[in-house]
Amino acid sequence: MRLEDKICLITGAGSGMGRAAALVFAREGAKVAACDLKLETARETVKLIEKQGGKALAIEADVSREQSVRLAVAQSAKAFGGLDVLYNNAGIFPSDDHSVLDTEEAVWDKVFGVNVKGVYLVCKHGIPELLKRGGGSVINIASFVALVGCSVPQDAYTASKGAVIALTKSLAVQFGPQSIRSNVICPGPIETPLLTEWLLKEPKEKAKRLNRIPMGRFGKPEDIVSMALFLASDESSWTNGAVLVADGGITSNYF
Ligand code: NAP
Repeated sequence: MRLEDKICLITGAGSGMGRAAALVFAREGAKVAACDLKLETARETVKLIEKQGGKALAIEADVSREQSVRLAVAQSAKAFGGLDVLYNNAGIFPSDDHSVLDTEEAVWDKVFGVNVKGVYLVCKHGIPELLKRGGGSVINIASFVALVGCSVPQDAYTASKGAVIALTKSLAVQFGPQSIRSNVICPGPIETPLLTEWLLKEPKEKAKRLNRIPMGRFGKPEDIVSMALFLASDESSWTNGAVLVADGGITSNYF
């Protein structure tokens, strides 16, 4: 098994790619601290893991609040004896995030509170746990929109994911000497509730986006989880500060 004995904290583990990662990581031998805003969805993930014979703990945590993150990290480390992997997956993509011209300040702050401050807080409290175990892996989730401009803007989201890329590189340089690898994945559009419950509901909007993907399909959570599995495992022992793109070729596409 590729994650035998690894202890992994995953944020946003109650839905989409976070849940998919929790299931795959547990199947590969990891003990999973499944954190989510709603305890109920985290519990559902844990139930699914237990059904497949794995070990996991459901934790209610709001990544945008320090006290909540502090408790979640402490609870995870106590339950499993430490932490080896921090998987910063939780993120939001509100429908009222548009251009800088018409995005409300509160929306901007909310997006940065979860997407950027959340990564900062999990690293602030989680990295000391990784250090106690002699190293580990930080996996951050950004987005392809941080790499190319988009004529249908979500400027707060885009800027927040750019910040995640920059922060990842800083972490890679700071903590590489202490055997902590920090890498970031930039997914293209993936069929998860975050996307399907909004953008992909509209056939016209769906077709517009599909048209831009050289591989002719949206991504599936597994397309990202397989990359995260590599980053969580010892197979990525010399991968540090990498920006890994899984987007079906969108960011290489001129026409
Ligand atoms: P998702 O299905 O919406 O799952 C995100 C999970 O994070 C949800 O369970 C959500 O809970 C939780 N969450 C939201 N705010 C939180 C908070 N403050 N603290 C803790 N958990 C919180 O999303 P997804 O599509 O799997 O996305 C996962 C990551 O990939 C995100 O960072 C997203 O930006 C990124 N991404 C997604 C796509 C895509 O096309 N889907 C593309 C590129 C990047 P609630 O449901 O209760 O809000």
